[in-house]
Amino acid sequence: MEVNELKLKKKNVWEEYKEEEIEKVSKDYIKFISEAKTEREAVNFVEKVLIENGFKNIDEDKTHDKLYKKIKNKSILILRKGEKDLSEGFNLVTAHIDSPRIDLKQNPLYEDTSLALFETHYYGGIKKYQWVSIPLVLKGVVIKKSGEVLTIDSEKEGFIFSITDLLPHLARKQYEKKIGEAIEGENLNVLIGSKPLKDEKEEKVKANILKFLNDKYGLSEEDFISSELTLIPYGEAKEIGFDKSMILGYGHDDRSCAFSSFYAILNSEKPKRWTIVFLIDKEEIGSEGNTSAQSILFDEILLNFVDDYKDLIKIYSKSSVLSGDVNAAFDPNYKEVFEPKNSAYLNNGVVMTKFTGRGGKYDSNDASAEYVGKIRNLLNENGVVWQVAELGRVDEGGGGTVALFFARKGMDVIDMGPPVLSMHAPYEIISKGDLFATYHSYKVFIEKFE
Ligand code: MN
Ligand code: MN
Repeated sequence: MEVNELKLKKKNVWEEYKEEEIEKVSKDYIKFISEAKTEREAVNFVEKVLIENGFKNIDEDKTHDKLYKKIKNKSILILRKGEKDLSEGFNLVTAHIDSPRIDLKQNPLYEDTSLALFETHYYGGIKKYQWVSIPLVLKGVVIKKSGEVLTIDSEKEGFIFSITDLLPHLARKQYEKKIGEAIEGENLNVLIGSKPLKDEKEEKVKANILKFLNDKYGLSEEDFISSELTLIPYGEAKEIGFDKSMILGYGHDDRSCAFSSFYAILNSEKPKRWTIVFLIDKEEIGSEGNTSAQSILFDEILLNFVDDYKDLIKIYSKSSVLSGDVNAAFDPNYKEVFEPKNSAYLNNGVVMTKFTGRGGKYDSNDASAEYVGKIRNLLNENGVVWQVAELGRVDEGGGGTVALFFARKGMDVIDMGPPVLSMHAPYEIISKGDLFATYHSYKVFIEKFE
């Protein structure tokens, strides 16, 4: 045997996959992330496609083979019954559909020096300096006094906003600050108007905005209290590079995995085992709350098919999970935070991440060698282009996913998703080929893993 054959090798997605296959998936993905930019929009998008493809709501007919169930309009569980009995365990692919962003405060509207602004409170891990002086759009819902649900999508309606930044000429003191302190969260106030309402005595600009909001949406100021409104980056996802090999867009973390898992369960042959794709809210703020990965509502949905909680726990112990989430791509501009042998690289395929966490693997699921062995064989036998990585150098920082919450239930879990450049920036970058490899890995897991 040649010694060279003993070495771990890297493959490139563009050399292994057919370009037209990659392009087809990318095209559908760009449509998805351009339209489904919040968790609520993702749930609506997915539900619409599921219904078109013959999936039924679990509450209406749970005897059907293809089912789904929404959780409070912010998470959605998709289920396909397999050839085997549920008592033999299921395959689950999870992904989160929330992304870092800037939420409005509950009492957001004010006027200062004849400008109208909204107070905000950011959601998830953002580098604040990236979110100023870029176009933002407002999305979400307002529950009016009458109980009516008003959906706002300022991107479709044509309203764009921006957070101001300090000019360099007057930024002498700001330059001296640490990057994390140079822009304060409290100062991420977004500019929403500047025109006064004639004949008004005071706060004329705020009055004009209130009048506009009332004319257009029927809102009063108190209605903001029962709202979930969020500012996210404007615009559609774009192909980038002279070779158009990459996609620039908001929220690849983690809608690249959400799309890939959803697309895979939709396009799979009848699976051997029962298969679930669970698209989840609230990952970016620690998976708390009743629409999160930690919510007991996951168990509640499965209890539609199992009589006893004791039996459900037995099923969990036989079940397998791909925790679909992105990893950091090695960035040539910031080599110092990566350990090159254990980093993910753009175009080397879907990333298998045995453990996330920080420090001494704190808060990590740390998949077993046995489970890694099975998944590795599955990927190899089916020609999936894949790589392994951890998130950055030891002690450099770290991050988590939902993996640990499903592992706690007794399931085998491993993280699997594409590498991302500029993670958590308003516009993140992935490779089209890695997206395809991610979809490919989920599809073979859904169809074949047992
Ligand atoms: Mn993520
Ligand atoms: Mn994230």
